[in-house]
Amino acid sequence: MALMITDECINCDVCEPACPNDAISLGAEIYEIDPGKCTECVGHFDEPQCVQLCPVACIPVNPAVVESREQLQAKFVRLQRAAASPAADAATPSTPSASTPA
Ligand code: SF4
Ligand code: SF4
Repeated sequence: MALMITDECINCDVCEPACPNDAISLGAEIYEIDPGKCTECVGHFDEPQCVQLCPVACIPVNPAVVESREQLQAKFVRLQRAAASPAADAATPSTPSASTPA
């Protein structure tokens, strides 16, 4: 699962620079996590860095974004590829088996 920031956030700015996926940004009132970018730090660290640092413990898992560790790892790989080649991300092909042997 991706993580989320609750309204207990005190906007201390500590978590944003610690996120290896740039998933954290300041929203309208408090910091927010982009679930499309949060891997729970899978691929980078053993523990979620934002959770480790947050002084008010306001970063639980996001129950709306259910993902297995394998899916988080796949998201990590996808994000790495996108970072290495932004154009490739825009053209992310869905590649079903194109050839169907008769
Ligand atoms: S768990 Fe890791 S990837 Fe997710 S928001 Fe926190 S620091 Fe970023
Ligand atoms: S570390 Fe916690 S309190 Fe500080 S900005 Fe991030 S979510 Fe908010």
